[in-house]
Amino acid sequence: MRLLLVEDDDHVAAALSAVLARHGFEVTHARSGEEALTALLPAAATPFGVVLLDLGLPDQDGFEVCGRIRKISATPVIMVTARADVRSRIHGLNLGADDYVVKPYDTGELLARIHAVSRRNAPGTGESATEDGTPKDALRLGAVTIEPATRQVSVAGTAVPLTRKEFDLLALLAQRPGVVFRREQIISEVWRTSWEGTGRTLEVHIASLRAKLRMPALIETVRGVGYRLVVPPAPAGATASPAS
Ligand code: CA
Repeated sequence: MRLLLVEDDDHVAAALSAVLARHGFEVTHARSGEEALTALLPAAATPFGVVLLDLGLPDQDGFEVCGRIRKISATPVIMVTARADVRSRIHGLNLGADDYVVKPYDTGELLARIHAVSRRNAPGTGESATEDGTPKDALRLGAVTIEPATRQVSVAGTAVPLTRKEFDLLALLAQRPGVVFRREQIISEVWRTSWEGTGRTLEVHIASLRAKLRMPALIETVRGVGYRLVVPPAPAGATASPAS
């Protein structure tokens, strides 16, 4: 797997590159945000499987770099930083980072996280589309259509752009409509972590999903437990659903 290591400290980069190379990664080293963005341009040779992004860079703030990466590339980003505070983590995840590792980290843990994000982002295998262009494995819940293969969501035919985590969260809840997912379960499945502070991140993502989909009632809060997806009523004109 090709990995883009964004790190301004040459000593750190050399040591980490050696470890990663031993584990089969083909590492490209970028020393600044600009170098990283150039390497990730769509025109660049082979796409990277993952980006390891140091937040302390000489030319621009790592958070800013992450936001700019998200605008040009869907490559998973793992932020690597000495900033351990919860606000920084939430900020990073909201900017589209896939994971967040705090220095000093255990190399084994870092490798596990790299493999985890790349697994989650592996492209689907050759799904074909139906006549109206909707992939066969698309999930329809009332007006909401979720397409796992392309990670696209639409409401009444209008595409709704979601962040990676917002999509993962919605797709998880949509697996079993009506069933309550516990907060810890969601955090573990979507963020692959149990660190304190993710609860707040989860709330932020739930609120964002409700707003973006313009369906505040779609995701119901089950106080003290978690969340569940409420199957929206069928669109007008469809077969009548049972009276409430
Ligand atoms: Ca640095």
